Amino acid sequence: KRPQVVVVGGGYGGATAAKYVRLFSDNGIDVTLVEPNANFVSCPLSNLVVGGHKTLADITVPYDNLARRHGVKVVRDMVESIDAEKRTVKLASGATLPYDRLILSPGIDFMWNTLPGMNKAGAQDKVLHAWKAGPQTAALHEQLKALPDGGTYALAIPLAPYRCPPGPYERACMVASYFKVAKPKSKVVIFDANDDITSKKGLFLKAWSDHYKGLIEYRPKHKLVDVDAATNTLKFEFNDDFKAGVANVLPDMRAGAIAVKSGLATANARWCEVDFLTFESKAAKNIHVLGDAIQIAPAMPKSGHMANQHGKTCAAAVVSLLQGKEPPQQPLYANTCYSFVTAKEVVHVASVHRYDAAQKTMVTVPGSGGLSSAASELEGAYALGWANNIWADMLA
Ligand code: FAD
Repeated sequence: KRPQVVVVGGGYGGATAAKYVRLFSDNGIDVTLVEPNANFVSCPLSNLVVGGHKTLADITVPYDNLARRHGVKVVRDMVESIDAEKRTVKLASGATLPYDRLILSPGIDFMWNTLPGMNKAGAQDKVLHAWKAGPQTAALHEQLKALPDGGTYALAIPLAPYRCPPGPYERACMVASYFKVAKPKSKVVIFDANDDITSKKGLFLKAWSDHYKGLIEYRPKHKLVDVDAATNTLKFEFNDDFKAGVANVLPDMRAGAIAVKSGLATANARWCEVDFLTFESKAAKNIHVLGDAIQIAPAMPKSGHMANQHGKTCAAAVVSLLQGKEPPQQPLYANTCYSFVTAKEVVHVASVHRYDAAQKTMVTVPGSGGLSSAASELEGAYALGWANNIWADMLA
């Protein structure tokens, strides 16, 4: 009987893993990908949609090629539960899929219990996160369009770790770039639960003073504890309430719900601990977890680029294990994270990580990586090239 791999989630981690299990096994392993969305919509570049510089269509890629070119069976459904003993998953439609190895890349879900007001009827449709690319991304831009000139956009950032460390500061730039042209009397106010800007600090501060003087205000050490969605009011642990024209709230995050309810989120009931050689869960055999859902090694960001690298490392390990071989012992991977500071100018941060056998974790390679010296349009071209290439690597 041919080995069966089921992949849960067709995002940066899951789509990559599904394609590469097929490639690395010369199509010798059957792969089923379960994903509820009809198309892949990218979080990277989605801040450009929020700022009105791109449309949702520009960041949407179909799943067709995974089936047509690579023989992945794509099932449009949600996985509701996992039976680790029987090695099956149950889908929302009621169907059951058997697996020899399960690969889970469900991304993040939000800890709404930490913001009680967000659980009131309609609150989550009014105060948006737009931290999963899709309808909320376009809806947030519509809210900005409806804001009167002189109105305030407030962005609340949770304590790290969260999906995409530089993402909120890029979003502030994109909203400010829109205000600068369309609503010059409006303001962006960032409320950060962290003590300081956690990524590319100098580069963002320079962009704010070069392009958005007086337009962006940054307030660190503001931990959000509740939201009154009816009045767009943010409530903080120690500071005064703030009423915004548009409130954009990034709640605390943890591994996607399926991982949490399956008992895989062993680190503070938030993130899934894995063996970095294989991405096999430390809590359940034959289940591999990757992408944003995992408890990361220090200095490894929760990024799409990282999830793509996890996908390949995990695929190689799963193919080896199913073929009765030892998995590769020296994973080495890179991360590059581009951020748009204007519609055209971009900055990046890069790093290289390798497996350390003694510590059994990923460590940063000394002297590797670095930061842009300044924002540039050339890096803007690189950023678009990065996106097109990684989408092709996952889905073409
Ligand atoms: P995802 O890509 O979110 O995929 C998870 C998938 O699982 C989803 O498609 C979901 O529908 C599916 N799913 C969930 N539960 C189930 C279930 N029970 N059954 C079936 N399917 C399920 N990263 C970068 O590298 N560069 C950037 O420039 C960058 N910019 C960003 C900007 C923003 C605004 C944001 C929000 C993020 C950005 N990121 C960036 C981070 C990047 O988007 C994430 O790190 C990446 O998406 C993680 O991949 P993943 O596979 O873990 O999750």
